[in-house]
Amino acid sequence: MKEVILCKYGEIILKGSNKGTFEAMLLKELKRRAKYVGGFDIRYAQSTVYIEPRDDFADIDEMYEQAKKVFGFASVTRAAVCEKTMEAICETAREYLPEKLRGYRNFRCEAKRSDKSFPLESPEIAAQVGGVILEAMGGSIKVKLKGADINVRIEVRDKGAYIHAGQEPGAGGIPLGCGGRGLLLLSGGIDSPVAGYMMAKRGLFIDAVHFESFPYTSERAREKVLTLAKELCEYCGHIRVHVISLTEIQEALRDNCNEEYFTLLLRRCMMELSNRVAEEGEYQCLITGESLGQVASQTMGALAVTDCVANVPVLRPCIGLDKEEIVVRSREIGTFDTSILPYEDCCTVFTPRHPKTRPEMEKVLAEEDKFPRAELIDKAWESRYAVMVRQFDGEFRYEYRSIEA
Ligand code: ATP
Ligand code: MG
Repeated sequence: MKEVILCKYGEIILKGSNKGTFEAMLLKELKRRAKYVGGFDIRYAQSTVYIEPRDDFADIDEMYEQAKKVFGFASVTRAAVCEKTMEAICETAREYLPEKLRGYRNFRCEAKRSDKSFPLESPEIAAQVGGVILEAMGGSIKVKLKGADINVRIEVRDKGAYIHAGQEPGAGGIPLGCGGRGLLLLSGGIDSPVAGYMMAKRGLFIDAVHFESFPYTSERAREKVLTLAKELCEYCGHIRVHVISLTEIQEALRDNCNEEYFTLLLRRCMMELSNRVAEEGEYQCLITGESLGQVASQTMGALAVTDCVANVPVLRPCIGLDKEEIVVRSREIGTFDTSILPYEDCCTVFTPRHPKTRPEMEKVLAEEDKFPRAELIDKAWESRYAVMVRQFDGEFRYEYRSIEA
C-alpha cells in the first residue's frame, strides 16, 4: 500500500493574481526540505500539494515532520492512495485505517469527490467506507456524526483515491520570503526568538543581529544565541547572525553618563547599529521582542526614544502579548528550554537601579554628548562578524566568517 503526504493551502487560496508567486515560494521551501530528507516527488493540484515517496527507503516520518513546519499550509495529513474503484477504496480502508483509529471511541467518515465521473456520490462513499471500518474494528469504535473524536476522509481526486484519518494543522502563515527580509534583534531571552518566529510566519526571511559585551558577557552566552538561531532554523531554513561588540560603548556609558539613562542610551546605540546592518544587508525592517510595559525600557516613551534612530520600520510582534502568552509560544516552537539557560545578556550589564521610564528627548541627547558616541559606534561597527546557521548541512553547522569592514 502506498502512503503519501497531502498538504492543503492556507491563506494562499485568497491571494488572487499574486497566488502564483506565493505558490512558487511555498514549493521552493518544501522542495528544499524534501531534497535533504531524500527520495520524494512533489506536485500540486487543486490547492493541495502531494508529497510522494519514490521508494520504500524514503523517510516519510521525517518528511511529515518537515511539512508541518512549512509556512503556508493550513493542514497536513498522511494518506493511503489507491485506485478509484469502490473495491480498492474499501480494501485500502480496511487495511490502513484500523491502526490510525485504535484507541478512539468514535469517528466520523466524510467523502469528497472532485472527480465527478466517479459513479457514487460523496454520502454513499462515506457510508460504505464507514461500514467497512465498523466491521474491521469489531465494535471497538462507534460512528458519531457531530463532534467525533477523529475524522476519516476519503477524497476521490484526479490521480486516485486518498484515504486518511487525523489530519493535523499545518504551520499556517504565508510562505517564507513572500514578505521580504527582516533583521531580528536576537538576545538570549524568551521574547526575541518568538518575535522572529512570528514574523517568519508572516512571510519574512529572517536574519539576526546579536550584541555582546565580552568579557561582561561570555562565550557561552553567544553559544546560547547561536543555539536559539539553530532552533529557529527549523522554521526559517538558515539565519545569518551578525555579531557586534558593545563593550567599549558600555564602559563609556558607565564612566560618563547618568545611570538612570544607561539602558536607554545603550538601546539607542543598538538600534542605530542594527539600522546600519539593515541598510547594508538590504533588510526592510527590524524586529524586536519588546512587549509594551514589560520592563522600563519598553514604555511608550522609551520605545519612542529608541525608535527614532532607525530609518526602517521596527516591528514588535510581541507588543500586545503578556509574558505568559510569549512563554506558551516559546514552548510551542521549541526555544523555551534554551532561552531560560542562565547566561547574561549585554542589556543586564551595568543595569541602573532606577531606569527612566518617561525619558525626555532633550535629556537623552544631553547624555549622549557626554561620551564620544559617533566614534564608538563606528568602532563597534568595525568589530562585527557574521555566523551562518543552516538547517540540514549534515548536522547543523556554524560557519564563522568575519566581514571586512
Ligand atoms: P528577550 O526575552 O527577548 O531578551 P527581554 O524581555 O529580556 O526580551 P530586553 O532585554 O529589554 O527584553 O530586550 C528587548 C529586546 O531588545 C529583545 O527582545 C531583543 O529584540 C532586543 N535585545 C536585547 N538584548 C539584545 C542583544 N544582546 N542582542 C540583540 N538584541 C537584543
Ligand atoms: Mg533580553
